[in-house]
Amino acid sequence: MRRKPVSLADAERAIETLRLFNPKKDIERFFAESDPARVLAGRVGPTKECLTVESLCDHMREPQDTHLKTCHHCLEALHRYKSVYERAFVPAKPKFWLDPIEVTTDGSLPLQFDFILQCSAPVRVRAEAIEVIEPFSRAECHGPKAIRHDALVGASYKFHCITTVPESMAHLKPGNECSETVLVRGHTEEGFLFRASGPVRLHRLEG
Ligand SMILES: [Zn+2]
Repeated sequence: MRRKPVSLADAERAIETLRLFNPKKDIERFFAESDPARVLAGRVGPTKECLTVESLCDHMREPQDTHLKTCHHCLEALHRYKSVYERAFVPAKPKFWLDPIEVTTDGSLPLQFDFILQCSAPVRVRAEAIEVIEPFSRAECHGPKAIRHDALVGASYKFHCITTVPESMAHLKPGNECSETVLVRGHTEEGFLFRASGPVRLHRLEG
């Protein structure tokens, strides 16, 4: 993959994003008071074993560091660094999808399960603004619980769904399972209309 060199326009966009997500912070003053050498030597996590900003580049090529297996601060920083390095910036139109869903039922109603909506941009989604359209009908969505909301990697939300067994799955005998595709539509607080789909596996417990 050939990367475009970072341009002045990129820097301006990055500063705009910083302003957007830190409206109370004086960004100009923050940069004026920042010493690049000290920033690069600074650690990205709270312990003295944590990686420095400068060493993130080396760790991207050698991700086997044992510290990374236990420190989520450093792992998150490395993840962000990688997004910037690979220029995986927020696209103009965000992408939406669902993580694979597992539902276990004993046959009683209503059917209840959690699902995770993934968004490639840091958008906000409310339960009232989404609707499960397939294969479940009259599904109620509750929540969400925000799992991640990050300027670089996007957002994920966990919803709780209360619904009935869809017709296509009603034949399911105890001990069996079947798969379908769930389709959700909605809009974000920012005004993006979206459709997101993902696989669901319904498992019916032995009677
Ligand atoms: Zn660390």
